[in-house]
Amino acid sequence: MVVLLRSTVVNLIVIIAIAIAAAFSTAARASAALVFAPSSVRSVVRYSWSTSFSMSSSAAGSSGEGDGEGGDKPLFVDIGANLLSEMYQGTYRGKERHEADLDDVLKRAWAGGLDRIIVTGGTLAESREALVLARTDSRLFSTVGVHPTRCGEFGDTDADRDAHVEALAELAEEGMRDGTVVALGELGMDYARTSFCDVETQRRGFLAQLTVAERTGLPLFLHNRETGFDLLDLLTENRSRFSGGVVHSFDDTADLAVAIMDAGLYVGINGCSLKTAENLDVVRTIPLDRMLLETDCPWCDVRASHAGSNHVRTAFPTKQEKKWERGSCIKSRYEPVHIIQVAEVVAGAKGVEVSVVAEASRRNAYKLFGGLQKKH
Ligand SMILES: [Zn+2]
Repeated sequence: MVVLLRSTVVNLIVIIAIAIAAAFSTAARASAALVFAPSSVRSVVRYSWSTSFSMSSSAAGSSGEGDGEGGDKPLFVDIGANLLSEMYQGTYRGKERHEADLDDVLKRAWAGGLDRIIVTGGTLAESREALVLARTDSRLFSTVGVHPTRCGEFGDTDADRDAHVEALAELAEEGMRDGTVVALGELGMDYARTSFCDVETQRRGFLAQLTVAERTGLPLFLHNRETGFDLLDLLTENRSRFSGGVVHSFDDTADLAVAIMDAGLYVGINGCSLKTAENLDVVRTIPLDRMLLETDCPWCDVRASHAGSNHVRTAFPTKQEKKWERGSCIKSRYEPVHIIQVAEVVAGAKGVEVSVVAEASRRNAYKLFGGLQKKH
């Protein structure tokens, strides 16, 4: 009896094991079929779709309702994508190199686990274009705002400034009506590039935009470069005028990161935040529930020379811009799909799973940007 029982148990275990193995192999086949569907990623050289990453039906669907859990498959929100860059129209440093391929870039993004993308606007005109682009897909959102280096567009007089503020506010309100505009930005201060706008012009433009923040309640997508604590001081002095925000492309000190988080703001991390060993030390100190991932594409690619590059697990085949062919990524031109590399470096630096980094950042993005759902 005991022997019989034992053998029944063994049989059961074997049957369960076979069933599990069969389920796994079916899942693996299904995942492989999905994974290799996009021709653009077929020839990935050093790729790990099947182990660390693959599409989920929610990310791949065109309904844009992909808010479900990603399971073990990381889903991402790229909170800063400069999709209006001329590089996605095939023009590099003023030279036309290939035909526009923004549609391919977006296809790669959706197939590669992007759940939502926020298109960055940097001037009034660009913000208008960002809104038009973002309205073409329910998973695309946009910002309205003026970058510190473009603050000359507020003009010289108070009347000019007020008119510009009014135009920005009207555009933001228009874009908020269907849920497409989700942030004010990018705005902030940049002491590394005062040749475009001096510090006083930047400060004037920044403060003017807080009027739009008050009026709309939009969170801020902030740019801060080499300002020490100056931008933070401006933010804390005016803390009651805006709901929240993120200091994107953070590449400063751990002390500033702490102060930013103490002000109730998030810290945005991209390839430019991960260049040096010191950068990685700072990233280690930022809790995942205060961190947002972004690409800042086409800029801020994670390069082989960067301190964190040994953590990168996912490689994409690239071509020189002159040798572009449909479906290829371009060397040094980042795209939203590359956000997984940012997550891999953060995960490697922190010693946690990529999926944990991705999910925390995605949750933060949904929270900060009001749910990221278009209104119908
Ligand atoms: Zn920026």
